[in-house]
Order: sequence, then structure tokens, then C-alpha cells
Amino acid sequence: MSYIPIDREQKIDPVELTDRHLEILKPRFWDKVWKRGEDECWLWTGATNAGKNCKRLPYGVIKIPNTRKLIKAHILSFILHYKRPIEANEEICHRCDTTICVNPYHLFAGLKSDNMQDMIKKGRGQGQFLPSDKMPPKSDIPF
Ligand SMILES: [Zn+2]
Repeated sequence: MSYIPIDREQKIDPVELTDRHLEILKPRFWDKVWKRGEDECWLWTGATNAGKNCKRLPYGVIKIPNTRKLIKAHILSFILHYKRPIEANEEICHRCDTTICVNPYHLFAGLKSDNMQDMIKKGRGQGQFLPSDKMPPKSDIPF
């Protein structure tokens, strides 16, 4: 079985992750995870993709052996746990919104557009506010 992780943010080429890669990565991965209860976030203690002046949220990353490519730690966690490849149109999302969390129970595979909807619902996208003419008039508020 092979896995094709695709990192759109870093615009890296898709790389084939072989069973051999996974075998090498597995112990390296778990070495960097602060594993706690199933309900808790398992925090990545290894490298992240956040630079010093980087404002975006950091994701854990780990180097794919014998390549110059990085794979995001939460994506690797998903692959190791669910033992299936990531489809090209899929994005591995966090239910917990903790970007460095690698708890597979907090991860789900969504389609790219699902993640956008999720972001909008949570108020991180655009257009999340009702226009002011949709707000109830103040006199309708009973306190
Ligand atoms: Zn979490």
C-alpha cells in the first residue's frame, strides 16, 4: 500500500509514502508525541512549520526518510491510525482546532470545501456575521 500526502500550503509535490517509510517513521513519530487520554489532545513536541515571524498556526512536521520532504505530523498520525491513503481531494482536519494535536480521535478526513465551511461556522472565514439589517431591533431584546 502506498500513501500520497499532499501539502497544499507548502506547495510541495505529492510524495509517495511507502510501507518502508511508515516503518521508519512510526517510532520517530511516537517519540515526539505527548500521548494522553483519548479525549485529550496529544501534543506534538517535535518540529513545526512555523517560522519565527510566521503568523499562521503551527503544524507539527516530520521529515520523510531519504527525501527532502516534510509530512505534517497530524496527517501521519491519521495514516498510521486509520491505515489508509489520503485522497487528493481530502484534507485532514482537527475537531479540536489544536493544530499541533495528533490524537487520531480528534482528526477527520474532510473534503477541501468541508474545511472551509467548518472555518466559516467557527468564525475564522469571511462572511460569518449577519448583516446588521438581519439583527433583531434592540426593543425586542427582553433585558
Ligand atoms: Zn486534539
